[in-house]
Formats: sequence, C-alpha cells, structure tokens
Amino acid sequence: MFLDDEEPTIPRYAIAESELDAEWDRFVVAVGKAKDDVGALRDRAVREMGQEHGAIFDSHLVMLEDPDLLESIEESLRSSLLNMEWIVHQYAQAIVKRLEGLDDPVLQERTVDVHDITRRILNHLMFRERFSLADLSSDVVLVARNLLPSDMIAMNRSMVRAIVMDAGGKTSHTAILARAFEIPAVLGLGGSARAIKNGEVVIVDGNTGDVRVQPDPQTLERYERIRARMAERDETLSGLASLPARTLDGKDVLIKANIEVPEETGSVLRHGAQGIGLFRSEFLFLQPGRAPSEESQFAAYGRVIEAMGDRPVTIRTLDVGGDKVVPDLAIEEEKNPLLGWRAIRYCLSDKELFQSQLRAILRASVSGDARIMFPMISGPVELDSALAQLEEAKAECRRRGQGFREDIPVGIMIEVPSAAMIADILAPKVDFFSIGTNDLIQYTIAVDRGNERVAYLHEPFHPAVVRLVKKVIDDGHAAGIPVSMCGEMASDPFAAVVLLGLGLDEFSMSAVSVPDVKRTIRSIGFAEAEAVANEVLKLSSHRETEEFLAKRLADRVSRDG
Ligand code: PEP
Ligand code: MG
Repeated sequence: MFLDDEEPTIPRYAIAESELDAEWDRFVVAVGKAKDDVGALRDRAVREMGQEHGAIFDSHLVMLEDPDLLESIEESLRSSLLNMEWIVHQYAQAIVKRLEGLDDPVLQERTVDVHDITRRILNHLMFRERFSLADLSSDVVLVARNLLPSDMIAMNRSMVRAIVMDAGGKTSHTAILARAFEIPAVLGLGGSARAIKNGEVVIVDGNTGDVRVQPDPQTLERYERIRARMAERDETLSGLASLPARTLDGKDVLIKANIEVPEETGSVLRHGAQGIGLFRSEFLFLQPGRAPSEESQFAAYGRVIEAMGDRPVTIRTLDVGGDKVVPDLAIEEEKNPLLGWRAIRYCLSDKELFQSQLRAILRASVSGDARIMFPMISGPVELDSALAQLEEAKAECRRRGQGFREDIPVGIMIEVPSAAMIADILAPKVDFFSIGTNDLIQYTIAVDRGNERVAYLHEPFHPAVVRLVKKVIDDGHAAGIPVSMCGEMASDPFAAVVLLGLGLDEFSMSAVSVPDVKRTIRSIGFAEAEAVANEVLKLSSHRETEEFLAKRLADRVSRDG
C-alpha cells in the first residue's frame, strides 16, 4: 500500500455532487481545528513573551475567519467538484502568486502567513488519511515517503508485513520501532519507494536492504529459502537465552533490551535479555488520544517492572521533540527541532507533566528493580535541575503516603557531546551513565539521523565518536559508576567487541539483536577485545576501522548470523 504523505503532494480527485456537503463540512472542521491551534499558540506566546508577540497569531485568526476566504473556497468547491485539499492548495497558490506580483514588500511578506494558515488547514484535512493506518485490515507492505514514529504507534501493526520508505536512516525512531515490532524495513531509499505501485508484489529484505518489486518465480523461491534459513537460525540462537553474556576468559557483561511499548516484555524475555536498559517512555505519549495521566503511567511502568521480575528496568523520562512529535503537548514547529525544545529541556519547562511522570515511576519502583534515567543532559546545571525535580516528586509521594524506593538509582543518557566532554563532572552526581550513540553521533558529526541524504556520515567508528565513548567509560569508572550503551551501535557485533574492550559494562539494544551480541561476547576473550580496542584507537577513520575489524574478527564474529 502506498501512503502518499509527501507534504507538497496534494491529492486531487473528483467528488460527486452528493458529496459536496460532506466535503464542505470537512473544511469547516479543519478550519476550526486550525483556529484552535493558532489560539493556543497565541496564548502561549503572550504568556511567555508578552502581549505584542500575540499579534502575528491574531492576524492568522483574522485570516482564518475571513468571509472572502470561506466564500471563494465554497465557490471553487461547487464549481470544480474536486476534493477539498486540492481546492485549498489551489487557493493558496493563487493568493501567493498575486501577492508576489505586487511591489509592496510588506504585502509580499504576507505570503508566509498564507502558507502558514493553508498548511495548517491542509494538515488537518489530511490527518484523517494518515490516521487510517489504524484501520488496516489486510496484510500490506507499507510504502511511504516518510512514516513518523507516531504513525508507527497508531497503525494496526499486525497487518504490516514490511515497510519501505524513501526517508529515514538506520537509527531514526521509525527504524527503531520497526525493529521493536519485528517488522522488516528498508529505509532511506531516497525516491525509489515512490516508484512502487499499489498492488505490486514486493520482497523486503530488512537484513541486506534489498527491495524487489514484482520478482520472478525463481527470486520468490530463493527468498522463501532465505526466510526458512532465518527461522532456523533464530531457533538456534534462542538456545542462548538462558546463558550469561560471559567472555571466553570469564568476564561478565550485561545485555539488556530497549523497549518502546510495554507489550514488548514478552519478546525481551524470549530473546534472553537480562533486563531493560532503556524504556523509551515517550511512546506512551505518542499513542492516539490524550497524554497519559499519572495513574495510567503508573500502571504501564508497573506492568513492565512486574513482567521483568527481579531483572532491572531503566525508565527514561519523556524524550519528546526532535522527530517524536506528541500532538497533545502542542510543541509547535521549530526551525531546528533536533537542537530545540527536546527531552529534558521540555520536561523542565512543563513542571506538572514532569512531576506526574516522576511520581508514576517512583510509585511503580516498589514492584521490582526500577531505575530512572534523564535524556539529553547537556550540562551540570540542567542535571541539577532534573535531580531537584526528582527530590520534589519524592517529597510529594511521601506527603501523599505513597510508597517508593528511596534509593532508586538515577542515571543519565550521555548523548550530547558537551556531556561526554565533561563526563568527569557529571559522574559524581549520578549512579550510572548510558551512552546514546544515535544522538551522540548525530550531534558530534552534525548529521541528522533521519536524513537519508547524509546517512552515510552516521559513522559509529568515526575516531571522534570512539574517543568520546572511551572518555565516558573511563570517566564513569573513575567515579565508580557503571557505564552502559543503549544506542544502536551496541547492537552491532563488531562494535560490541570494541566496546567490550573499552570496558563497557552493559549493552542495551532492540530485543531481536540480543542473541547475536550475546553470541559475540561469548565467542571472544576480554583480553583479546582489549587488544582490538587498542588497535582501533590508533586508526584514523571509520573506513579503516571497518576494514580492520572485518579482517581481525573474520573467523569468529559475523554480522549476519
Ligand atoms: C540514543 O540517542 O542513542 C538513544 C538511545 O536514544 P533515542 O534513540 O531514543 O534518541
Ligand atoms: Mg537519544
């Protein structure tokens, strides 16, 4: 199924005369929602920055209520008998053209406002289509330009056999969710996904990144054989589930899993993970409907902690923003969302939301071995503020007489280069570090992790990344705290050897990757891993390191089972 989600691609189709009223109603509803958005933005701008900053939004409200706009849209609808998205789009084009043709720079600038309000209306008109992913009722290979993490959460996943996308990279949240849901996915095709048509047969090989459209019978047969082999391999690897992650010379590390939704605990246990190293709690907030209350979060965290028995569960506080947009939180579009109002920055500015999450985690902590982790910490002041909020949440639980684990361990993600550089300053303040390489690489190399055009630059073995990782491990150990990694780098068997050699204590990854990494750890000695890591530290590029590891580990470590 092709999901036409590219913003500038506006659907155009004819409608029957009998559908005119329904089409007009759709427009009225969309305008109403656009007005609600603008009203909320205006209120916040006034609250946070002063009365004068509300003016721009007031002018947008005037435009949305303009009788001329409503009249000309209705007229075009009735005369053209075309769908509303197309009519709104055409209207915007015509106005923009007219304004651009004028000599007056002030009026020319109004084109931005026209774009803004029509885009808002279009978003609401088209939202229904994206949301229909929840209604999928037969098996599909989902082909799209870009599926958002919220689409992944909303869709009826049981019907999605595979995903093919033009946008995205291996560490984008859409890719991470596809792995969590065990849906084969190939992302970052950069345009070729669009060529696939509805109804065509598609083979998607998530391991190699191959996508075959309308394969011949021999190819189909070959892939059936590959599928059978993969199933056999999974069967063999499942024998490792109950074994420790112990090197040949007896060093133990921990291999845990990352989860996005509570239902994943079954898969975590089946794959032999020794705990949950990262529960991305924000995905509870991406479910359709309202942001979850303290009580429903308490229930969700409790479910996960109980399901894991005495195994540790690290719950990361809300990491919204960036590519994880939560409609209910009304984080308006930003120019640089990845550098913007994200994660801990957002939480520290929405005290009520943060406090309710912290209380929910604290209260659930009595059900097992829970830990709290803050995302995107960039410096000590931010960390102190987060820790102060935690103390406040504890005080409130005490006041209410609600039990919690007083000594609940508290850690931070190290995923911003500034935090990595001052890991020695941050370490004494917390109980553990967890390195988030997806973001650490993104911010160190300045490469948007979701942008397929620069995906080739997302290099885990870039010497800058390797050195930062080493520094974080060394600084953590010097302060006597364990260091984990929950970025995708930890799930690569070659990287696992290097990380083991650098002294990493815990590895956390998608549940499906756990058996492979466990097998890798069990197939090498710690002393040898240290020697490998020391060699890697001398190399000067990602490519050199890849070549070195391929040669050095060829006889023992395999990346594809
Ligand atoms: C990371 O950045 O490496 C990480 C684990 O967090 P997320 O992928 O959710 O940003
Ligand atoms: Mg991150």
